[in-house]
Amino acid sequence: MEYTGHGGKPLVERVITDKAEAKKKIQGLKQVPANRQMATEAIGIAYGFFSPIEGFMKKADVEATCKKMELADGTVWSIPIVFDISDKEIADYGIKAGDSVCLTYEGNPLAIFDIEEIYSFDKETIAQDVYGTKEDKHPGVKRTYAYKDKFLGGKITLVNEPKVREPFTPYFLTPRQHREKFKEKNWIKIVAHQTRNVPHSGHEWLMKHAYIAAHGDSPVEQMETMGKAISGILVNCIVGEKRVGDYIDEAIVLTQDELRKSGYFRDDIHMVTMTFWDMRYAGPREAVHHSIIRTNLGLTHHMFGRDHAGVGTYYHSYQAHHLLMSIPKEKLNITPIYVLEWAYCPHCGEVTCIGLCGHWNELQKFSGTKIRSIIMDEVKPTRLIFRPEVFDVVMDAAKKYGFGSPFVTQDYLAKAKPAFTIEPL
Ligand SMILES: [Zn+2]
Repeated sequence: MEYTGHGGKPLVERVITDKAEAKKKIQGLKQVPANRQMATEAIGIAYGFFSPIEGFMKKADVEATCKKMELADGTVWSIPIVFDISDKEIADYGIKAGDSVCLTYEGNPLAIFDIEEIYSFDKETIAQDVYGTKEDKHPGVKRTYAYKDKFLGGKITLVNEPKVREPFTPYFLTPRQHREKFKEKNWIKIVAHQTRNVPHSGHEWLMKHAYIAAHGDSPVEQMETMGKAISGILVNCIVGEKRVGDYIDEAIVLTQDELRKSGYFRDDIHMVTMTFWDMRYAGPREAVHHSIIRTNLGLTHHMFGRDHAGVGTYYHSYQAHHLLMSIPKEKLNITPIYVLEWAYCPHCGEVTCIGLCGHWNELQKFSGTKIRSIIMDEVKPTRLIFRPEVFDVVMDAAKKYGFGSPFVTQDYLAKAKPAFTIEPL
């Protein structure tokens, strides 16, 4: 079945699954190694996470993305997806426009890259237009400045599918597989919760709020009974480049799943998957990019909280909301849900959203730092703040995958196995 992706265009799928055919197609092609970042993005392109783009972007698309937040054909697009390469590599590999090459990852064939264009692009323009700053303190800008001199633009065809390791294996679904799962579940309205966090009660309530809002005017009895739900929450964890102090990906995925396993969400309204993506911290522009990815996964709604994908003080708390609101409805095929901030009110004795009850001075915000220190101390907090089952899973993940810590350490960066590998074809 053909599915529709972002921009109302057919969902991109450029994968050769037949090994014999794949081997034949790459025979005689020059090999060009891709680093983890480029390999991750090639995989994302081929499976359609970034539909409708079919390859690494060409100059006209990057230009339109920077200046108009669109692809050259007018489809909304906010972050350039580019393949960088040095002049020396171009010379060494003997690459020219019009060539098809075989991208390899860790020595094994990954994808066919039909190079249509070799071009350069002003990095400061990308920084200013996409991130709103030229400061290299911004991690997205730093990443942009680290790009080599030239970009290669052209279509990608995956010839060798990634092998995703435990405990991630059951959580990695392609856009097509997401849609098949939703069909099985008979979900009509599905809201995305974007996360890089181990959930505390504040996150749990963000999801519950988003679920209720997305369910909207659907028949209420579907929510009240134990019958089959027609709306769902998809927790889509971002798995990619890590920084010291982040939660380890294993802890994120497993704790999010624990919320359903221990009954805080019904089995048939909640599901956890992951997407490979290196966060750019582009704030509002990244919120648009996340909407695009989730549209391609087949979601109907997307939750956006405070300072979505932001970093430092580069964007104001609700700048992403305002940018999303400025995009015409027909250009972004997913409905944003703007969620309030949740806190614990000791007076009400419950978790509530800020601005709802009148106990302004008593509200206890869920500060990331506070939650972190609770986890570091290994003392189980009250279940109103942090679910005990989630706490146990964090501790377990730290031992099993984090070399003793649920947070990324230098040790983890050096020793953790990559989430996916490419095996010999
Ligand atoms: Zn209160």
